[in-house]
Amino acid sequence: MPIFLECQRCTACCRWPGQVRLTDPEISRLASFKELPEHDFIQRYTRLRSDRRGLSLQEKPNGECVFLDGDNCAVQPVKPQQCRDFPNLWNFPGAEKSCRAIPRELSEAEWRRRVREATGRDVELRRFC
Ligand code: SF4
Ligand code: SF4
Repeated sequence: MPIFLECQRCTACCRWPGQVRLTDPEISRLASFKELPEHDFIQRYTRLRSDRRGLSLQEKPNGECVFLDGDNCAVQPVKPQQCRDFPNLWNFPGAEKSCRAIPRELSEAEWRRRVREATGRDVELRRFC
């Protein structure tokens, strides 16, 4: 049976080191959500990725994401796909030590429904389990 990781909104993944990569459409949606022209949004909230091949979200001095507001994501309705996809569609060894998502054993149909709900993607189970 497939395992769905049910997010507990602990926000650990918004605090650990790394880059939240942004696509051009995501930048447009985020800028619109923040009611800023794209150029201003880019100057204020993004930085060049370490591979210099695109933009990622800035971090605060303490390392957490610039959009983490207490225990909430300030851009939740338009948060980047990379954020939406974790931890069910991408993951890394040892993530479970910090991520408090609860594993739920589900039918394939229910797994697919929950993943679609969490990520907006309709994915084939066999690619990830
Ligand atoms: S955009 Fe939101 S969900 Fe993504 S890392 Fe920042 S605070 Fe977390
Ligand atoms: S670390 Fe895991 S449980 Fe915590 S907010 Fe991120 S995905 Fe959810």
